[in-house]
Amino acid sequence: MSGTINSYSSYISKQYGERIQKISIDGGFTCPNRDGSKGVGGCTYCNNDSFVPPNAEGGLSVTEQIEKGIRIHKRRYKKVKKFFAYFQAYSNTYAPLSHLKDLYEQALSHPDVIGLCIGTRPDCIDSEKLDYLEELAKKYDITIEYGLESIYDSTLERINRGHDFSCFDTAIKMTEGRGIKMCVHIIVGFPWETKQQWIQTARLLSTYPIDFLKIHQLHIVKNTVMGSQYIKKKFNLLTLSQYQDVVVEFLAHLNPNIIVQRIIGSAPRDILLSEEYDIVESAFKENVENGLRQRGLSQGDLLQVDHLSNNSFI
Ligand code: SF4
Repeated sequence: MSGTINSYSSYISKQYGERIQKISIDGGFTCPNRDGSKGVGGCTYCNNDSFVPPNAEGGLSVTEQIEKGIRIHKRRYKKVKKFFAYFQAYSNTYAPLSHLKDLYEQALSHPDVIGLCIGTRPDCIDSEKLDYLEELAKKYDITIEYGLESIYDSTLERINRGHDFSCFDTAIKMTEGRGIKMCVHIIVGFPWETKQQWIQTARLLSTYPIDFLKIHQLHIVKNTVMGSQYIKKKFNLLTLSQYQDVVVEFLAHLNPNIIVQRIIGSAPRDILLSEEYDIVESAFKENVENGLRQRGLSQGDLLQVDHLSNNSFI
């Protein structure tokens, strides 16, 4: 049947037979691209206000954030009983291991928390931290989410990421085979990248042993370098229909074994400078499924198998 995406919601219901809600946690981290160890000012598109969760406001401890998050989610989804603690803001492995243990274990000590999702940069991991996460993964569902954003070094430099593609490659190889699930986050829509390059991104990521992928459109938010550039001179961003078209093409070239966690993002309206995509996530997903169906395609149908054994084609 065409129009099929290997979606996270189906994966969760197959794996757990019930809804598992992520609770976003602000662990009070910074990142090496802000504190001067890799760079200052951060990635040119980044404003962490775009993902500070409501349960993290007011400097609450991890335990308090978990409790508040559970209350909020249970109000919305009456039947939800189990949760992942999602360490989301900044780089959530960027601290000494003893501090990470304290925060992660506060989250895992709640009886309804069954695992962690840990967002970080590929240069903020080492074998000591991975050994610890490997141990945790024997008992809990542990996902590490590497922000890659682009496979192209020229883009990574231009957005001041402070790491290159080979750094990502090394992090994946260090993480592989430890029972830790891996998610990768990328941004589609940098105005100097092309549709062909995004397709190439899908094909390259298809060769990596990653479990999950998140795709986010480029949007421009206040208090960022890109925001200032955009105010000075507006640059072309993908319209909703162009973005949708790219996502359809992207998924058609993406390994069908990779579970797609997200295909569109959002930011609070008050910090958004670029035009908001006026669509909710579920409707966008339906449009993308229809786009695939109209072409008689499902996720991975345009991926040639020979590319799966060769990851050196960028
Ligand atoms: S996107 Fe991540 S790595 Fe880049 S500045 Fe923001 S928190 Fe740091």
